[in-house]
Amino acid sequence: MSHAGTRSVDRVLAQLRDEVVVGYTQELVRRPSENPPGSYEEVAGWTEQEFRRMGLEAVTAVEGEPGRINVVGRIRGTNPDAPALCLASHTDVVSAGDRSKWRYDPFDPTIVDGVLWGRGAADSKGMLAGMMAATGAIRESGVALEGDLYLCAYVDDETAGPMGLRYVFDEGHIKADNLVLGEATAFEIQYVFKSRIWFELDVIGRSAHGAFPERGINAIDKAMEVIEAIRGIDMGSHPVLGAGTVNVGTMHAGDQVNVVAGEATVAFDLRWGPPISSSEVREWVNEALRAAQQADPELELGEMRVTEIREPLEFPQESPLISALRRAGSDASGREIGLGGWYSSGELWPVWNGGHIRNGAVVGPGEPWQAHAYNEQIPVAELVEAAKLYALTALHVCRPEAGR
Ligand SMILES: [Zn+2]
Repeated sequence: MSHAGTRSVDRVLAQLRDEVVVGYTQELVRRPSENPPGSYEEVAGWTEQEFRRMGLEAVTAVEGEPGRINVVGRIRGTNPDAPALCLASHTDVVSAGDRSKWRYDPFDPTIVDGVLWGRGAADSKGMLAGMMAATGAIRESGVALEGDLYLCAYVDDETAGPMGLRYVFDEGHIKADNLVLGEATAFEIQYVFKSRIWFELDVIGRSAHGAFPERGINAIDKAMEVIEAIRGIDMGSHPVLGAGTVNVGTMHAGDQVNVVAGEATVAFDLRWGPPISSSEVREWVNEALRAAQQADPELELGEMRVTEIREPLEFPQESPLISALRRAGSDASGREIGLGGWYSSGELWPVWNGGHIRNGAVVGPGEPWQAHAYNEQIPVAELVEAAKLYALTALHVCRPEAGR
């Protein structure tokens, strides 16, 4: 791949101002967008206005359902055949929860000792701010890119809803081979992602008086056998992603304390890495259940409902996108940026599965455990580094005209 020349890099970085990155983060945090329920009018209104003020082309509010407003902007490249890039971060945040557990008001962003506090600072409004500042700096520098550069502020990430980034791509508002999502990865470039299956399973018992448990079949006892069987599945191990996992997310069972539970429903979340496919895992689940039923003829299973299914996702480490990110990351931070794997492919999966992108990655500042935490925070210096990383990545992927 060719790289952006130092001249264009210097011109763009000269336009990238720390106070813009920090100011954008504060403006975004100040506009609450907790999801659920996902009320986006305020944050989307401000974002759209700012995209326009930055001089982005084709700024669109893409609303798949009333109120669920994605915002897309573009810097048009000079060569329609050149590689295009989309920088995208979600505007929704998880609930701030119990306000008394926050040192500062979660929606009044506060900077103390170089750290910015607030709901969304690290997940993922700080990343969106960095991407906006990066795109704005490229625009202001006057550097012309060969490939299109898209900027997208999308909704419904926290609920994996269908009206967010996948909808924007499906509707044709973004045409880019390369997609970078901003999340708190501590600047590690995530290129390989676990898959997941979520399913609910009904376990059938037989009710009886609680004083005579031997006259019934306790569905809770039987559900415990099912849990043990599913937990016993060897989910394999991936060199980057680690071991596959089994989690019991919910269990609903029984009606009354003095009644033998007649029915139980257990929900499982299974995750694993490539090259294992979801059909293999489903076969393992079926085998485990068959074995449990053979061991206990009283174990009766009802309906199984699969509520989510996706395959593992791995993008080539040697792709131009990953090379661009690594180079941009080390130039932005002065240190080597590593590669890693993530427990979820987020919106990369539906966008890739829809055939819209060839390469993708997730990268951003902040520690992963800041996401969804009380007192969510992010160092200002990292926000600025991230903005540089996104700007330089755009330059390397979309290439300044004539390699300047
Ligand atoms: Zn996030």
